Amino acid sequence: MSKRFPVDQINWFTSSFLIVTFFVAVIGVPIYVYHYGIDFFQIALFLCFFIATGLSITLGYHRLFTHKSFQAGRTVKLATLIFGAAAFEDSALDWSSDHRQHHKFVDDREDDPYSISRGFFWAHMGWIFFKLYPRPLANVADLKKDPLVMWQHRYHQVIGVLVSLVLPPVIGYLYGGGSAALGAFLIAGVARVVFVQHCTFFINSLCHTIGSRPYDSSTSARDSWIMALFTFGEGYHNYHHSFQHDYRNGVKAWQWDPTKWTIWLLERLGLVSDLRRVPEEKIVLSELREMKNRAEAHIAAQGGEVHSCANCKAAYETLLELSETLADSYRELEEAITERIEISKQTLQRWRQSAQEVGSQLVLLHSLQPASA
Ligand SMILES: [Zn+2]
Ligand SMILES: [Zn+2]
Repeated sequence: MSKRFPVDQINWFTSSFLIVTFFVAVIGVPIYVYHYGIDFFQIALFLCFFIATGLSITLGYHRLFTHKSFQAGRTVKLATLIFGAAAFEDSALDWSSDHRQHHKFVDDREDDPYSISRGFFWAHMGWIFFKLYPRPLANVADLKKDPLVMWQHRYHQVIGVLVSLVLPPVIGYLYGGGSAALGAFLIAGVARVVFVQHCTFFINSLCHTIGSRPYDSSTSARDSWIMALFTFGEGYHNYHHSFQHDYRNGVKAWQWDPTKWTIWLLERLGLVSDLRRVPEEKIVLSELREMKNRAEAHIAAQGGEVHSCANCKAAYETLLELSETLADSYRELEEAITERIEISKQTLQRWRQSAQEVGSQLVLLHSLQPASA
């Protein structure tokens, strides 16, 4: 039995921290609120620290340091390194190494550190309890050359304690004395750490479990606007896994992605530059490819045998027609990209709509022929 559970590889320090902070938050905060109530100051302080630390992870650790989706000056780097440390999610160097490994080997049981194929809890936080693999720090050689990243790597725990657990009670004390300090420690300090951590963990668990896969269904990564609400826009995870160097995760203008809006704003302020965007044609191409593959897989699975009801036959005929048109559009767009021929926005939009029509037709067919799906 002991062979199956690697006790000797438990990461005791990190595991204790995760468990203690969780129980302090779920027990301590209600007791505090029962005795002292909660005022605007406590809520505002919680939100300030939640946004500062959450954005430092998504904008700093993730999109800047891991994916280099834009360039940043010292101010943005330093701010995200300091408040990123206050999220207690390891140093930016270690975090980036794990995350690059995740992208490279996504869904692989052995090499993806938080692979969903090892179960929901493992992907969410189980992997953090163990040290089951050596970190391949060779994949962050570029970050090792950055003195600010290496400074944070050495001192991230001290910085984390000071910014996350000392600063909030100090601000609370200055505002309202001892009871406000205690509230700030529990709410803006401990509870906020737990909340930010689980929001990040959900990207590795729920964003690989619920949602749609409009760009690539060969991986488990999914797009979910609900998850985007809790993760500063990181919920559009299928897009992100398809185009990891794009500074946007919610690539459509209307998609909820406060991280991309902040990066855009910082660019206007001259604090960041060189924002990387995937050209629209390549995004549409991946949508067409995905829908084309799904239609072809469905047609192949039918093998010409369609359910005999008139509705099923008609729907299947429509799918055949639509998928032929889609395959033509796909070929045309692929050629245009290779030969660098410009395609008008209207044409791209029309092709995108034809992919959506195929999607609707597939949904209709699945509802008509549940047994054949
Ligand atoms: Zn992922
Ligand atoms: Zn990523």
